Amino acid sequence: MAITNEDNLKKIISHAKEYGYVFQSSEIYDGLSAVYDYGQLGSELKKNIKEYWWKAMVQMHENIVGIDAAIFMHPETWKASGHVDAFNDPLIDNKDSKKRYRADVLIEEYIGKIEAKNEKEAEKAQARFGDAFNREQFLATNPNVLRNQSKIDEINARFKACMNNDDLTGVKKLIEDLEIACPISGSKNWTDVKQFNLMFSTEIGSVSETANKIYLRPETAQGIFVNFLNVQKTGRMKIPFGIAQIGKAFRNEIVARQFIFRMREFEQMEMQFFVRPGEEMKWYEYWKNERIKWHQSLGIDQKYYRFHDHIKLAHYANAACDIEFNFPMGFKELEGIHSRTDFDLKQHEKHSGKKLQYFDTELNESYVPYVVETSVGLDRTFLAILSAAFQEQKLEDGSERTVLAIPAFLAPIKVAVFPLIKKDGLPEKAQEIINQLKYDYHCQFDEKDSVGKRYRRQDAIGTPFCITVDHQTLEDNTVTVRDRDTMEQQRVSISALETLFKEKFDVRKLLG
Ligand code: ATP
Repeated sequence: MAITNEDNLKKIISHAKEYGYVFQSSEIYDGLSAVYDYGQLGSELKKNIKEYWWKAMVQMHENIVGIDAAIFMHPETWKASGHVDAFNDPLIDNKDSKKRYRADVLIEEYIGKIEAKNEKEAEKAQARFGDAFNREQFLATNPNVLRNQSKIDEINARFKACMNNDDLTGVKKLIEDLEIACPISGSKNWTDVKQFNLMFSTEIGSVSETANKIYLRPETAQGIFVNFLNVQKTGRMKIPFGIAQIGKAFRNEIVARQFIFRMREFEQMEMQFFVRPGEEMKWYEYWKNERIKWHQSLGIDQKYYRFHDHIKLAHYANAACDIEFNFPMGFKELEGIHSRTDFDLKQHEKHSGKKLQYFDTELNESYVPYVVETSVGLDRTFLAILSAAFQEQKLEDGSERTVLAIPAFLAPIKVAVFPLIKKDGLPEKAQEIINQLKYDYHCQFDEKDSVGKRYRRQDAIGTPFCITVDHQTLEDNTVTVRDRDTMEQQRVSISALETLFKEKFDVRKLLG
C-alpha cells in the first residue's frame, strides 16, 4: 500500500535524502528555507520526467515547438503581464505563534475538512449498501452531504466576492466567522490581511546609478508570449500551434513548507497553445483531456487524480482548472490548465507598441490569437511520482523491504549488474554486460554484500531490473534477471537482454 498521510511525508523526505534524491539546499549552513538540491538520483529522475513531458508535448505534436527563454526579461514584461501590480497573495499572521499564513489557503483547508466529512459519509454508506450503492445519487440527495455542500458554496461565494472587491477586511472577517485557529498556537488572534508581492527582484548593470530593477521570472509563460511572433514567423507555424518550455521560475512564497511541493525556486513545464478567437473552449477541453491522460500514463492509480475548477478566475482567464494529486498531505494542485484569452498578447502589444498578430490565410484576416495554457510543476510531478512509488512492504517470508516502484522508464538507474562473487572472472563478465547496455540504459555495478542485500539497495532506489552474473554465465552466457516489482527471476541469455529491455522500457504504448 502506498502511504498517504502527512506523517509519512517525513518518511519520504528522509528516504529521498538517504538515497541521494533530494537534499536541503546549503545544508552545511543549516539550509535555506524552501530551496532544495536534487542529488545524484533525483537529478536523473527529474531529467527523465522532463524528457517524457517533452516527448509527449513537442515530439509527438507536429504543431508544437519548444524554446528556452532567459530567466531575466525586460522589466516592462512584468508590468504588461500584471505581475507587478497583481501577483500577490493575501497574507495573515497569527499574533501568538508569529506564524505567517496565506489567508486563501486557511480557507481552502477549512473547506477541505468539510469535503473530507462528505467523503466519510459516502464511505460509510458504501459499506452499508455494498454493490447497490450509487455514489452520485447519494451525494446529490443525502441531507448531511447537502448541508455540508451548501456551507462550502456559501464560503466560496463569500471569499470570491471579497477577493473580487479587494476586500481584505472581509477576508479576515470570514476567517474569524469560521473560527479558524492557527494550527501551531491554536489561537484565533489574527492580524489584518495584507497583500504581498511574490516576485524576487535584483539589479542589472554594474554601476548602481544606472542600474535597473529587474525580476527573476515567476513563470515561464511570458518568455513564450514575447517570442510568439519570432517563433511563428521563423517556424512558419499555422494556427492552432503551441510553444513549449521547461525552465526555472522563482516566487517568494509566504508559506514555504511541504518539501518540494512549494519552493521559492522551482521548475515549470509549460505549453501555450495559440488558437482562433472563439475556438478556445474546444481546445481547453482538448488539453484537459490530453493532460490527464499524460499523468495517468505514468501508471499511478487513477484515484490519485482529480480535476478542480477554479472559482476565482485570474484576471486573464475565461476558464481554468487544476489537475490535483493526492499528495501525502492531501489533494493539491499539480497542474493548471487555463484559457487565457488574448490577454497576454494584447498587453504586450500595448506595452511594447509592437503588433503581435497572426494573419489567418483561411479567414483572410489578422487577429490576436487566444491562448490555452497547460502548466505543470516539474518538482510537484517528481513529488507525486516519489510519494506514490514509496512503499514499505511485508514479504511472505516475514521480512520487510522498502521499494520505490517508480515507473520503469523514469527510473534513475535502469539496470543493476551484480557478479555473484568478487572473483573467478565474474566481475569482468558483469562489466562486459554493462559495456553492452550502457549506450541505452543507465547501469550500476555492485559487488558488495550478499545478493539479497544488493537487491534491497536497488529496491530502495527504484531500479527496475537487477542482473546477476554467476558461474553458469561463464559456461552458457545466461544471467538471472530479477524484476523489482514481482521479485521474480528469470534466466535469460545475454544476447537477449537488449530485446528484453527494449520492450520493458518502451514508452510507445504510453504515448499512444
Ligand atoms: P499554488 O496555488 O499551489 O500556489 P499556482 O496556482 O500559483 O499554485 P500556477 O501559477 O498555476 O500555480 O503555476 C503552475 C504550476 O507550477 C503549478 O500547478 C505547480 O505545479 C507549479 N508551482 C507553482 N508554484 C510552485 C512552487 N512554489 N513550488 C513548486 N511548484 C510550483
